[in-house]
Amino acid sequence: MTAWVKAYVGLGSNLDDPEAQIRRGYAALARLRECRDPHASGLYLSRPFGGVEQPDYINAVASIETGLSPEVLLAALQDIERRQHRTREVHWGPRTLDLDILLYGDKIVNRPDLVIPHPGLAQRDFVLYPLCEIAPEIVIPGLGPVGDCLKSCANRGLERLDREPLSAARDDEGAVSGET
Ligand code: ADP
Ligand code: MG
Repeated sequence: MTAWVKAYVGLGSNLDDPEAQIRRGYAALARLRECRDPHASGLYLSRPFGGVEQPDYINAVASIETGLSPEVLLAALQDIERRQHRTREVHWGPRTLDLDILLYGDKIVNRPDLVIPHPGLAQRDFVLYPLCEIAPEIVIPGLGPVGDCLKSCANRGLERLDREPLSAARDDEGAVSGET
């Protein structure tokens, strides 16, 4: 029997129609195999982080219940990034789609290629605000309640956009291997 774990995924884009990238990315996430009950925050406009000169970002946070292990979920997210033409050139540089595992149940993972809770979560307004929107009571392992994290995180001009909610409906990409 599948052991379902609630996972939170951060979505970000600042290239090639960021809002459409986030919508497609969320739709792809929602139809991953062994994933159910997807929810998403609203869309947020955020200033770039990390000192690289680049366009503003659109961000959101989604939750899913998943039967995939953290490692398999990461590979699945990277596969979605690749399909949306993500290339890795500059660390913290512009990208068509960034999908990060923020939380995986109350699990703490510390591997070279996978750290959960996602490092930097506590400093990122564009993660904490949308996370708090969909999970206001959540306690972040090692950090404490999301509301407390929010209070000690600088808001760098984050703006919640008045847009259509993200939808888990299929996009026009069609089924791709690895998905149900
Ligand atoms: P960032 O998301 O920090 O801007 P990248 O998306 O380029 O940077 O990710 C770089 C690497 O981060 C990935 O190759 C992945 O192995 C690693 N990584 C570590 N922890 C996580 C996580 N929780 N979610 C997603 N990627 C992670
Ligand atoms: Mg990433």
